[in-house]
Amino acid sequence: MVLSYLRWRQPPSVWLRSLPAKTIRRHPPMEHTHAYGSWIVVDEPTCTEEGVRERTCSCGEKETEMIAALGHTAGEAVRENEVAATCLAAGSYEEVICCAVCEEEMSRKTVEVEALGHSWGETKPGQAPTCTSAGYTSYEVCTRCGYSNRETIPALQHDWSEYSVDETNHWRTCTREGCSAEEQAEHTFSGNTCEICGYAFYSEGLKYEVNKDTDTVTITGLGSCNDTTIYIPAVIKGKPVTEIGDRAFSNLDSLTEVVIPEGVTSIGAYAFNGCTMLAEIAIPEGVESIGEAAFQSCTSLAEIVIPEGVTKIDSFAFHKCNELTTVYYRGSEEQWKQIAIGSNNDALTEAEIKYNYTGE
Ligand SMILES: [Zn+2]
Ligand SMILES: [Zn+2]
Ligand SMILES: [Zn+2]
Ligand SMILES: [Zn+2]
Ligand SMILES: [Zn+2]
Repeated sequence: MVLSYLRWRQPPSVWLRSLPAKTIRRHPPMEHTHAYGSWIVVDEPTCTEEGVRERTCSCGEKETEMIAALGHTAGEAVRENEVAATCLAAGSYEEVICCAVCEEEMSRKTVEVEALGHSWGETKPGQAPTCTSAGYTSYEVCTRCGYSNRETIPALQHDWSEYSVDETNHWRTCTREGCSAEEQAEHTFSGNTCEICGYAFYSEGLKYEVNKDTDTVTITGLGSCNDTTIYIPAVIKGKPVTEIGDRAFSNLDSLTEVVIPEGVTSIGAYAFNGCTMLAEIAIPEGVESIGEAAFQSCTSLAEIVIPEGVTKIDSFAFHKCNELTTVYYRGSEEQWKQIAIGSNNDALTEAEIKYNYTGE
């Protein structure tokens, strides 16, 4: 009794908990478990928007629930804006996918299509070029676009032989097999030399001597030559001409021009003395000495070219060359001063001297 009394003295929250459940004597509330019917869709979901459904209990209670959006349903891919590829150019199209339900565009991407490249037909034979007409390579034609890869091979041009010559003409033939082209023309002389074929003529009949010890030739006189312009040959009977001999052309007032060939190294004493009509004299590079009175009294000589290699001009060499006004020297002023110039060459030393001359 004491124990139960103490319990009663405690607040109810304490003793109620500690009592065995079966001793609790309370009235439970009136309970009703809802019994819902089937869900009824009241708002259908779409691809992009939620729907709504509800169910109802016999007691009238309603329960409402969202239905998730369905999402799009991809339809078949479709090509748009198609640009066809050609043999040489790439093409493209846009691949578009729309929703099969609502038709809304879901994706669009550009797809490149590689150039197709030519579609070659059969190889056709080429044609070889000739001297005068072009040929072409073997080739194919594109069956799609008609492009041909044929390439032109230029004409070969004639393969000329060396010139053959006579006194008036030069001619040559094509050496290429199958070509019979031939070309002939008269010489085009500049001085004694044809500018095209190189043929040169020389004065004939000049007197000469062969120097037995050196096997060279010295020109000694006009001989039977009637030329007023004398082209002295560089070679006579296979031997090189190296000297214009003493008095070789002395006192010939018919001479107007003399061309001395390369290979001559000395011009002898009185060689052209008294050639009063001699207006032009070509002295080649290689001449080293000009003899005594060699050009004395050449009163038509107004200018002269002196080669760089001259080391000695003897006395009287240009004595009484009254018209000589200009000397073209192929060496420098220092070299000019080194030349041993003999006495009585006032016409030479008092002329205007142009150094380092490079003209003809
Ligand atoms: Zn209910
Ligand atoms: Zn859709
Ligand atoms: Zn093509
Ligand atoms: Zn030819
Ligand atoms: Zn010629």
